[in-house]
Amino acid sequence: MATILVTGGAGYIGSHACKALAAAGHVPVTVDNLSTGWREAVKFGPFEQADLSDRAALDAIFARHRPDAVMHFAAFSQVGESMQDPGLYWRNNVLGSLTLIEAAVAAGCLDFVFSSTCAVYGDQDGVVLDEDSAQMPLNAYAASKHAIEDMLRNFGVSHGLRHVIFRYFNVAGADPDGEVGEYHQPETHLIPLMLDAIDGKRPALTIYGTDYPTPDGTCIRDYVHVMDLVDAHVLGVDWLRQGKGSRVFNLGTGTGFSVREVVEASRSVTNRPVPMEEGARRPGDAVALVSGSSRAVAELGWRPVRSTMADMIGDAWRWHQDGGYGA
Ligand code: UDP
Repeated sequence: MATILVTGGAGYIGSHACKALAAAGHVPVTVDNLSTGWREAVKFGPFEQADLSDRAALDAIFARHRPDAVMHFAAFSQVGESMQDPGLYWRNNVLGSLTLIEAAVAAGCLDFVFSSTCAVYGDQDGVVLDEDSAQMPLNAYAASKHAIEDMLRNFGVSHGLRHVIFRYFNVAGADPDGEVGEYHQPETHLIPLMLDAIDGKRPALTIYGTDYPTPDGTCIRDYVHVMDLVDAHVLGVDWLRQGKGSRVFNLGTGTGFSVREVVEASRSVTNRPVPMEEGARRPGDAVALVSGSSRAVAELGWRPVRSTMADMIGDAWRWHQDGGYGA
């Protein structure tokens, strides 16, 4: 049993990670400023409301809980917003992470699991990406994650910080028990926006770009179920606690779905029409991002079991119909 400090534990992925950590016998301590997270999502361990830029607050939290490891999710994560206001991303994500890393090092908490993104690879002609693929972030969100990865490597050399970096792209679905789920305000992600359009909460889904060089003209992404994703994070904690050293893992299924294919899957799972319209490309979007994750399977023993479109959309749909945290 270990105590894990989970930044962003009130957010979508962080709240599911807390559930998985608690199920594995760990104590997840959520640190979240509630800028985009939900107090109602913190159900599986203590809650500390703090901003990562507040070093004194972080020092006090490390002293109070004496965590064995950090799992760092807290970040702004919208590609479009990051292109309109890059300073927001460099300040919040990069400076916040620097403050957190320095506090962790000062407290002697040297095992660090970091939530990164396959967007650090940028566009690479539709190849299935592996961890050694070149990195060319296309937007400020990806650039901020890329910078934090460098930061972790630097602090590894200087202070012995050990990291597991997970690079993933499109996380989807919800806890099948319905205890936590995806709920963003405002929502920008494809699947929840589509579910809103299906049940009339918004007039239509806009497809961002239909002239991409893909078979049906829409962008291709690799979707992974949030429950599978957080299972890998628990394995990442075990990896570090077993002294296996710093490592980067991609998390995906290796199968890409176009936006139109996701729309069709949603129509089929919900058995309802998807009101939609075709729109312009969104700045910063890569054409195709598909993440091979054979390293996570071979080395971590990761076994994704729910990452089918049917399960991801089905679980998201059930959560969506329950109304989210604001209901
Ligand atoms: N997308 C879309 N309409 C929307 C939201 C997203 O067509 O209202 C597309 C977007 O261009 C991308 C894919 O759906 O190709 C997934 O976008 P999302 O924002 O969910 O995740 P991202 O890939 O940016 O992390």
